[in-house]
Amino acid sequence: MKKAKKKELAELREEDIKRLPELIELATKTLQAKGCRVYDAADTAQARGIIGELLVGQKRVVRSFSQTLYEIGFDGLMKEKGIEVEKTSTAEILWSEEGRHPDGLPPFPVVDRESASLSESELPFAERVRERVKESEYGITGINSIAAERGTLVLAENEGNGRTVSNLPYHHVVVAGVDKITASLTGAVDVVCCASEHGQNRKVPVYISLISGPSRTGDIEFRLTYGMHGPKEVHVILLDNGRQELCRQGYGYLLKCIDCGSCCEQCREMALANGWSGITLTMKGLALALIGGRIAPPVLQNRLGNFSCQVGITPKMAAEALKGLNTVKSF
Ligand code: SF4
Repeated sequence: MKKAKKKELAELREEDIKRLPELIELATKTLQAKGCRVYDAADTAQARGIIGELLVGQKRVVRSFSQTLYEIGFDGLMKEKGIEVEKTSTAEILWSEEGRHPDGLPPFPVVDRESASLSESELPFAERVRERVKESEYGITGINSIAAERGTLVLAENEGNGRTVSNLPYHHVVVAGVDKITASLTGAVDVVCCASEHGQNRKVPVYISLISGPSRTGDIEFRLTYGMHGPKEVHVILLDNGRQELCRQGYGYLLKCIDCGSCCEQCREMALANGWSGITLTMKGLALALIGGRIAPPVLQNRLGNFSCQVGITPKMAAEALKGLNTVKSF
């Protein structure tokens, strides 16, 4: 990515984080105006409670890959509720079912079917995923960014077949960290493209979905009908879970992260050195796990290593945050 563009993106994210409380409020209003049902979840427990209520009576749901779903322990919750989860990310299935990542840490970055190199014998997997998605009432996804001014959710296809999961079931449930909110639609799309370019070496994801509320059409006798070409309900859970606390403690710059995955290997090294599992492998992910008490200080940083970040988070800045952050037990 060119230097000027990199600087622009870093500045854009910095401005978004400075305005975070205001943008959360604005996004809530604009998403609701577009017909989405919006929920505030202060922490994991609240997010799990909201999802539990939404999915009462379901036997099976489909979900795409999302670090935020890992963060709230979505699969474990479904197990407790007796709801079967069908994963739709090829890479995630290959990783988790075939033990390609035996360290128990979630995969990152997600690659799509093409780059996961499915062999001919594995192709029926894709058919199975399609069938399961079609049969499901609920599709659960994370989100790549949210444009607050427009009330639009931006989702890249390579997040584990996110387009299919968000579009085919009658209900789309989104779990989004509040740091995914940007002010403008152009900013939100820039974030997605930059994460794709830097994390997966692809300038623009093959598909990007811009979701502005439930599907609606007036084609039939000019009557407004919901759910004809996509979900008839879109639920958006805005998860804080320590993000605003990160700002309060002076380390809000970590929220500029666009989840490109470029520092994943350094985070994985640190996680292994410290004996952590089940955490998001970005500097932001480690900081949130620390603030929420999911991992405990002191953090061994001798494996931090070097990484190049598109929004200007340096290894030194990450190290300072991991050293200085205080755990807040209420998360
Ligand atoms: S902190 Fe890591 S994952 Fe986040 S934008 Fe920077 S390099 Fe990418």
